[in-house]
Amino acid sequence: MDFAIPADVVALADEVRTFVARDVIRFENDARWGAHGPSDELRRELNALAAKAGLLGINAPREVGGRGIDHRAQAVLFEAAGYSMLGPVALHIQAPDEGNINLLSKIGTVEQKARYLKPMAMGDMRSCFAMTEPAPGAGSDPGQLKTRARPNGNGWVISGRKWLITGAEGAGVGIIMARTGDGPGDATMFLVPLPHPAFKLTRVLDTLDCSFMGGHAVIDIEDLQVSGEDVLGEVGKGFQYAQVRLAPARLTHCMRWLGSAQRAHDIAVAYACERLAFGKPLGGHEGVSFMLADNELDMHAARLAIWQCAWVLDQGGKGQKESSMTKVIASEAIGRVVDRSLQVLGGLGLTRDTMVERIYRDVRAFRVYDGPSEVHRWSLGKRIVDGNKLRKA
Ligand SMILES: Cc1cc2nc3c(=O)[nH]c(=O)nc-3n(C[C@H](O)[C@H](O)[C@H](O)COP(=O)(O)OP(=O)(O)OC[C@H]3O[C@@H](n4cnc5c(N)ncnc54)[C@H](O)[C@@H]3O)c2cc1C
Repeated sequence: MDFAIPADVVALADEVRTFVARDVIRFENDARWGAHGPSDELRRELNALAAKAGLLGINAPREVGGRGIDHRAQAVLFEAAGYSMLGPVALHIQAPDEGNINLLSKIGTVEQKARYLKPMAMGDMRSCFAMTEPAPGAGSDPGQLKTRARPNGNGWVISGRKWLITGAEGAGVGIIMARTGDGPGDATMFLVPLPHPAFKLTRVLDTLDCSFMGGHAVIDIEDLQVSGEDVLGEVGKGFQYAQVRLAPARLTHCMRWLGSAQRAHDIAVAYACERLAFGKPLGGHEGVSFMLADNELDMHAARLAIWQCAWVLDQGGKGQKESSMTKVIASEAIGRVVDRSLQVLGGLGLTRDTMVERIYRDVRAFRVYDGPSEVHRWSLGKRIVDGNKLRKA
């Protein structure tokens, strides 16, 4: 086991930290960051600053001029960027784009990459990933997928309803997951240029979180005609590709949110060292210092889980079990860190005078998306029980 971070990654992480502190944090109270996320105008301004600092698209694949960094480097750099919720927006390593770029670079055709990959990777185009549906459709159980794609003479016609689709508003391309057969695994991914009249954005939902561009939308897909060239990967392999996308994509969420947890913790530490109560700084009371210590313990455990999973992915492993476990460990640990940080701040923590309140609201959603904790526990438990049955047989 080698936990040493290569010197070039250390140097790049320093650059990212400096950039976030100097160029990004000052935009956190910009009026263009609203309830449905930062506006595209704000994003483009931040992207221009990142480009000037040589940091835009640090995660882009080599084929489109990026650095092609590995998952372990991502772990360090994304955490540094996540110190501000606008950091990943500035560097264009935010969800869902980052996961979509990764998927397209793995399974897109030459033509699809030429059309979408470079603009997506460099922030000229945003994207969305449309899988989830309102009940009784796909949610925790993707097998309940109801959106259908039917073949016709010109390709496929897609119909269905999606919801909670992050970034659909303002996206230049969407990946739609649709059922293409009657078997339980018969699903296919389609690439659709947006906006499209048959991909109707009904409303943007009002949600607890506010860091994702475009917010989360409800989409009615009404007889959307796509051609055979718009199939992403192979017909019938949609669920397999969803797993290819999800293992690294949920890990990068862990990385970015760990950076935000560190921010909340740092704000709490500064307050605990200055604010006096009962004759000494808050941090001098064990009840507070233990909370700060628990924060460090939680962040350390989350970081190690992330790094180990990143290592598995770098060795060519699928990392499905590891990323599932890491998602639970990190999302819950990060939730606790931010909750304690808010508590240490007392009344101040509840106000918008620090970023902790906003991080607290935003990070709550992370225990739901990319698989709720209970679904990961259920699937891990099933593996354990099934494995035990097999051993006995
Ligand atoms: C902020 C946000 C952004 C999102 N962005 C996108 C996006 O861009 N694209 C997209 O396609 N989707 C997106 N989603 C949807 C997300 O992936 C789903 O919310 C998630 O998969 C859960 O599905 P559901 O909401 O339908 O919950 P349900 O399936 O209705 O489940 C509800 C609850 O039931 C429990 N549960 C479910 N199954 C089990 C089980 N087997 N054992 C024990 N308990 C269980 C869990 O506690 C779960 O939270 C987003 C969601 C949020 C909140």
